[in-house]
Amino acid sequence: MLDSRSTRPAPWPDHAIQTLNTRFRERPPEELLGWAAEHFGRQVALTVSFGGAAGMVLLDLVVRHKLPIAVVFLDTGLLFPETYALAEAAARHYGITIERRQPGLSLEAQECQYGPALYARDPDHCCTIRKVTPLREALHPYEAWISGIRRDQTAQRATTEPVQWSVKHGLLKLSPLAAWSEREVWAYLSSHQVPYNPLLDQGYPSLGCAPCTHPAGADAPRDGRWSGSAKTECGLHLEL
Ligand code: SF4
Repeated sequence: MLDSRSTRPAPWPDHAIQTLNTRFRERPPEELLGWAAEHFGRQVALTVSFGGAAGMVLLDLVVRHKLPIAVVFLDTGLLFPETYALAEAAARHYGITIERRQPGLSLEAQECQYGPALYARDPDHCCTIRKVTPLREALHPYEAWISGIRRDQTAQRATTEPVQWSVKHGLLKLSPLAAWSEREVWAYLSSHQVPYNPLLDQGYPSLGCAPCTHPAGADAPRDGRWSGSAKTECGLHLEL
């Protein structure tokens, strides 16, 4: 269900977005996070998958700098037990409330409607039901969305800027780690002793739902996602 707000904010003009990118492109991610908290107050949300390492960097920065940014966790119902355990452990570790969002269609209802193992037959449809639609609903109350995507993750993410207008969601999309490398992410986790998903140390360099995630080489981490198909994105970050 969407909340009662029926209108979306007007798109930010290109020149304003360019000004922000010029200001924050070479700056540490906490500066963009701080600006977002100051500008949007409680109308900005950080999505954390509790699978990837970059999201844990952002979560740590938000808590470390005491920023009043909402933390949203999309629970598809098909995540690894380690992912659920990390979400609970992080809430305790940081003393925060995590907004857990689930699809409107339960797994049982999905199976009744579309048959078993939709993820194996039509993963795009499954991702739409279990990820894309719940994200759209979760972001509806917010005016800005922070995520941990980085340019070096996939070809589709190669042009990610720290600040972009999302036509799809009608909000400002912020990617404070857009220019970070995998090495920088892990250096941060190590030096700040940030909790992360243990499967990342067990041959799963990229983590999503359990049925669609397999071990992969560190040099091609996305190869473990939807193995055997051309799909590389769940759709959350496709199209602005
Ligand atoms: S990643 Fe797989 S199981 Fe998860 S929503 Fe997409 S298709 Fe379904």
